[in-house]
Amino acid sequence: MNAKPKILIVDDRPENLIALEKVLGDLDVEFVRALSGNEALAQTLEHDFAIALVDVQMPEMDGFETVEFMRQDKRTRHLPVIFVSAIYKEEYHQIRGIESGAVDFITKPVIPEIMRGKVRIFLDLYEYQQSLEDEIARRLQYEEALRESEEQYRDLFENASDLIQSVNINGDFEYVNSAWLGELGYDSGEVGQLKFVDIVAPDELDHCMTLFQEIVNGKQFENVETKFVAKDGRLIHVEGSVGARLKDGQFYASRGIFRDITERKRIEEKQRELDQMKSEFISNVSHELRTPLHSLKGFTKLMLQDTMSDKDVQKEFLGIMNKEADRLGDLIEDLLDVSRLEAGRFKIHKERVSVAEIMHDAVERLRNLAAEANIVMIEEISDELPEMEIDSKRIGQVMTNLVSNAIKYNKENGSVAVKGELRDNEVLVQVADQGIGIAEADIPHLFERFYRVEASDRIEGTGLGLHITQQIVEAHSGSIWIESQLGVGSIFTFKLPVHQNGGSAHE
Ligand code: ADP
Repeated sequence: MNAKPKILIVDDRPENLIALEKVLGDLDVEFVRALSGNEALAQTLEHDFAIALVDVQMPEMDGFETVEFMRQDKRTRHLPVIFVSAIYKEEYHQIRGIESGAVDFITKPVIPEIMRGKVRIFLDLYEYQQSLEDEIARRLQYEEALRESEEQYRDLFENASDLIQSVNINGDFEYVNSAWLGELGYDSGEVGQLKFVDIVAPDELDHCMTLFQEIVNGKQFENVETKFVAKDGRLIHVEGSVGARLKDGQFYASRGIFRDITERKRIEEKQRELDQMKSEFISNVSHELRTPLHSLKGFTKLMLQDTMSDKDVQKEFLGIMNKEADRLGDLIEDLLDVSRLEAGRFKIHKERVSVAEIMHDAVERLRNLAAEANIVMIEEISDELPEMEIDSKRIGQVMTNLVSNAIKYNKENGSVAVKGELRDNEVLVQVADQGIGIAEADIPHLFERFYRVEASDRIEGTGLGLHITQQIVEAHSGSIWIESQLGVGSIFTFKLPVHQNGGSAHE
């Protein structure tokens, strides 16, 4: 609440001061008395006055001198003064600095109505001035609060990790935040030259333009998904909310707050591929299991017939059944290996063995399979290959897988060459075929679980062999790679360090 305005009354006679207070008794003001010019000046240091009523004729310092001093002080330079005097008012023009404040003049004897009227005018002025000052202070405070809140919002927008943008009806950017600039790779100068359509992926343009039109018509959308194109051409998947910014109830610009979901999309896509691969795998596995099972069932039926008495035929059938049982066993082993790998329970048991022997055994194991397909097997295994600390069963499995693939994915009358040589401190093993070859795009995926090249769909398989192969080679601190040309053939090469380090188990 505002305090009452104060009036300074100056007169060397106390009875005059009392009389003045009486005359002005109706006013809602506080009086401060001074019996001399000096006392008056001292009071101005203590209080803020609305008006000073100053007697002109006083001993020592008269009223004019007192006001002259007041005019020299910043606080009282503009203090309205009413001189009370018996002499002519023309004299007050002599006072220096008089023009800097409102001044009036009342002659004695004071006529109460005139005195009250003049004081009221000055009081009204004072109150008006006070209310102006209050208003200015309020506005300054409001502006400061507004500036602070704007700063806060700017800070929030600028430091948000979301991409924030605002686009006007012409497709120009009204605002983009730092995260937006960082993600799309533009600087703020370049954004001024950009149009919204420049950053929308071409296949999303229709969708975005339809949305924009609906936003102009006042609609809001949550969980909108679209794609932006960064300056370097990178596609950015985004999800967010869009709506309109209004000015006087009219569309002014669109507002979009987006999250970058590129990584999430990538993972979802990967998961989808994996799911698809898994379902293909299940159908492949079922097929792989069913074929030998059918065969086993068929031969068992034949063997059970009473007419089956020829020992040689029986032996031949049993041989086939044994092979089919092996096929089933191998397949189940592959499945178990993958499940062990995933559970981190895949173990390697190293012992000192000859790599050359392992390679040769694999070729021998598969010689019949090659012969059935009229495929020539070539062995070029160097005598220099040393004995090594490796898991013979697992490296044998690698060889079997590579050589059987080279036969499976070969061409009629093709060949498979198995080479082994010592280079520096590494054993280099190569299985080359003249088969169907592999497209460049498929090569990086071949070691993934369940991955099968579409073209090899007609050939039985599960897409597990190469995955297991790579894991075994890496568990021996080795590496494996593929060189291939579609329609010409493939070379699978792996190398193992002669001096194996580490323990005998691979997690
Ligand atoms: P599978 O042979 O059981 O399908 P693999 O993991 O051994 O599984 O091989 C994965 C895929 O790699 C195969 O399906 C095939 O498409 C391709 N592939 C493997 N070896 C060869 C090869 N020598 N020539 C052409 N393609 C091959």
